[in-house]
Amino acid sequence: MDYIYLTALGGLQEGVLDLVQNIITTRINLPPCSEHSEPIKTLSPLPSPDYAYLEKRNQYDASKILEQISHSLPQDGIKIIALTELDLGTLVLSYVFGLAELEGKAVVVSTCRLRQEFYRLPRNDALLLERLSKEILHELGHSFGLVHCLQPYCVMSRSTTINQIDTKMQDFCPRCRELLNAKLVDK
Ligand SMILES: [Zn+2]
Ligand SMILES: [Zn+2]
Repeated sequence: MDYIYLTALGGLQEGVLDLVQNIITTRINLPPCSEHSEPIKTLSPLPSPDYAYLEKRNQYDASKILEQISHSLPQDGIKIIALTELDLGTLVLSYVFGLAELEGKAVVVSTCRLRQEFYRLPRNDALLLERLSKEILHELGHSFGLVHCLQPYCVMSRSTTINQIDTKMQDFCPRCRELLNAKLVDK
């Protein structure tokens, strides 16, 4: 199995990548690529995605970002996950927490609307990390071919509001886990 690459896009709070790297490794149950190498590697940060700026909305087009960052995936990689603090939307959705294509190579997730401060509440880094991990696992699930799950507690359940993210677990339900494991064996 090849590597999953993790990178910051247009600036990211220090330390976040390391914390997230650990969580993905544990929750996805990725096999090590070799005896001495972890399955997830970090890439040097990518510049601000000016190419995707939606001026009227002061947001960045997540679909355009996916297309662009997939070109930054090294040859020994299967996925690239970019984390950003910038607010994301698409041409049809007024905002997204993150985006990935089904069976796609690229994933983008924003911390912007996962922060308590966005909702005028006091900063809570532990909660931010929990929400970020759920959103990354969800989008990574899509990139491995998983569709939305009807179990509200499953990380693959659809979440369009922050409350829906807070309701679900930071893990896959048994059925989604089984599907994911089957996809990982294929890689
Ligand atoms: Zn989804
Ligand atoms: Zn599920």
